[in-house]
Amino acid sequence: MKAQVPSWLRPLLGKGLLWRVDTSSKVIYLTFDDGPVPEVTPEVLAILDEYGWKATFFCVGENVMRYPELYRRLIDSGHRTGNHTYNHLQRFKTAPAAYLSNVYKARERIDSNLFRPPHGQITRNVSRVLRRDFTIVMWDVLTYDYDASMREEDIMNLLGKELRPGSIVVFHDSLKARDRVLKVLPKALEYWKLNGYSYGLL
Ligand SMILES: [Zn+2]
Repeated sequence: MKAQVPSWLRPLLGKGLLWRVDTSSKVIYLTFDDGPVPEVTPEVLAILDEYGWKATFFCVGENVMRYPELYRRLIDSGHRTGNHTYNHLQRFKTAPAAYLSNVYKARERIDSNLFRPPHGQITRNVSRVLRRDFTIVMWDVLTYDYDASMREEDIMNLLGKELRPGSIVVFHDSLKARDRVLKVLPKALEYWKLNGYSYGLL
């Protein structure tokens, strides 16, 4: 399970990982992992449209293969996409060579120089290779929207507490997160707009 990574631990995962954009401007980098899927992604897109907000979708290659028209829609709507491996592999359970070839397999379908490791699992040897072709995008604000025990107000409180200018926020356009992401996202966007935040694109 992906978890918030304390700042002291971050350098140990490797050099050159992007945890937050260094800026004092009120810009938020909104990201969605694990899609695209027809049960969630179109609704997320509709919400983003309503608020005029753009995001980066870290897509699973297998999903892009299944739903190419949905992937196309992400791009055509002005959002960015990133690579999240072909089979949502966990680095700690996969040999380096197999992991890397899965990333490059996904790259055949996802034309992006952004990569986010599933479950945030990355190691120095793999990140050293991937950094030649990708910016490795981590996060500083995880919403835990995949966790069914999280209530809407828990997620809103967490966002209120942890968000800073330049924050990289993670939601999921996945079945597991569906109930929470569709409820919380409009509230978060409403709140951000009201407080003078705008979107940044990675
Ligand atoms: Zn993921």
